[in-house]
Amino acid sequence: MTSAPKTLSDLAAADDYDPNSMPVAKAREHIRAFLTPITTVERVAVRSALGRILAEDIVSPINVPGHDNSAMDGYAVRHADLKADADVSLDVIGISFAGKPYLGAVRSGAAVRIMTGAVIPPDCDTVIPQERAKAADGKVTLGTGVRKGQNARYAGEDLKVGQVALKRGQPVRPAELGLMASLGIGEAAVYRRLRVAFFSTGDELVGIGGTLGPGQIFDSNRYTLYGMLTDLGCEVIDMGVIRDTPQAVEAAFVEAAAAADVVMTSGGVSVGDADYVKQMLDRLGEVLFWKIAMKPGRPLAFGRIGKAHFFGLPGNPVAVMVTFYQFVRDALQILMGQTVMATVPTFQAVLSAPLKKAPGRTEFQRGILSMGSDGRWTVRVTGDQGSGILSSMSQANCFVVLSDGTGNLDAGALVDVQAFEGVL
Ligand code: AMP
Ligand code: MG
Repeated sequence: MTSAPKTLSDLAAADDYDPNSMPVAKAREHIRAFLTPITTVERVAVRSALGRILAEDIVSPINVPGHDNSAMDGYAVRHADLKADADVSLDVIGISFAGKPYLGAVRSGAAVRIMTGAVIPPDCDTVIPQERAKAADGKVTLGTGVRKGQNARYAGEDLKVGQVALKRGQPVRPAELGLMASLGIGEAAVYRRLRVAFFSTGDELVGIGGTLGPGQIFDSNRYTLYGMLTDLGCEVIDMGVIRDTPQAVEAAFVEAAAAADVVMTSGGVSVGDADYVKQMLDRLGEVLFWKIAMKPGRPLAFGRIGKAHFFGLPGNPVAVMVTFYQFVRDALQILMGQTVMATVPTFQAVLSAPLKKAPGRTEFQRGILSMGSDGRWTVRVTGDQGSGILSSMSQANCFVVLSDGTGNLDAGALVDVQAFEGVL
């Protein structure tokens, strides 16, 4: 057994390391091994914690619920007063409202009218819903077949005093906001936001508002990146389009690495460009260049520039998004301090039309998933799967994930899909 490489250059020197044919799973594993998460903590008002990552455990200062209380509108009784084979009639001696408990004793033979959420008097143990009770003249008649403890919600059944309610590394979603509020917690310790600086390179690229010259295109990657990073809760530093000269690109790398935790570029890491970029990055840090056995999104650079992590994404618009979702998103979540990871729901669906796939690489085709009339999930791909066809990402609602070994498939075949709800 060899131990895990400690540095990127150790990794590059390992016997089984082949940068030119890197399986998707291996690339993920390598990236994970070289991530240093943020440690700086901020205290924020509970609402501002939405979308952030908890930097400490939240320990419950109280029992939730705080008291035994009723799950129904009805009558609180002593179960021992009920009979297994006959109705009983009890005296109704008071009412317990939510927030206004009945404070008296409840002797044998008595019942208390009770509302949902109201405290169950300590002498009682069971609540009978009003639909199953007949009240008249200060008495209530109750039937048989009632289980002890029925319709009672117990103190501490959700959370007990001193229990860890939420773990450090947990992303705060609406449920966590509500949970903290239910504990009366008004502030939370969260990690500071991850700063990500990104820029595009390429003389063909023009920013919005510019005029397209011959052979030029508008820069779209900075917009998909802006969207994906903002969705994740990163602080973004958009450095614009950098001219394709070694001086301009080097200056941009240096500035980005000084300003951010993560530097991200799109384009410029494919074969034609890689040599000069590689030499430059070797001077500024430690970066590995991979050809991933996947489609779209073959080239990927990963490493460090100065103290910043670096992700060099491919240039093609769909490849940028696929690479981001398959490699970068998880990595950024880890850098943000997240340790409670959500699993991306992957399940099987039936292909409704044949699909083309060459064996040898993992493909992430864009698919449209719908529920078939037979109650099974059905999927078809969006048409042209070229890595520049950004409309495929917009039309799709899932990735169809086709493993290395898979070839062409006929309609009716089962394929793995990752629904965008959950990934995006
Ligand atoms: P590259 O990796 O730089 O050779 O780029 C690969 C392809 O992606 C080329 O067709 C580029 O024009 C295109 N591309 C690169 N960067 C961008 C961008 N920011 N927006 C849109 N397309 C891009
Ligand atoms: Mg380029």
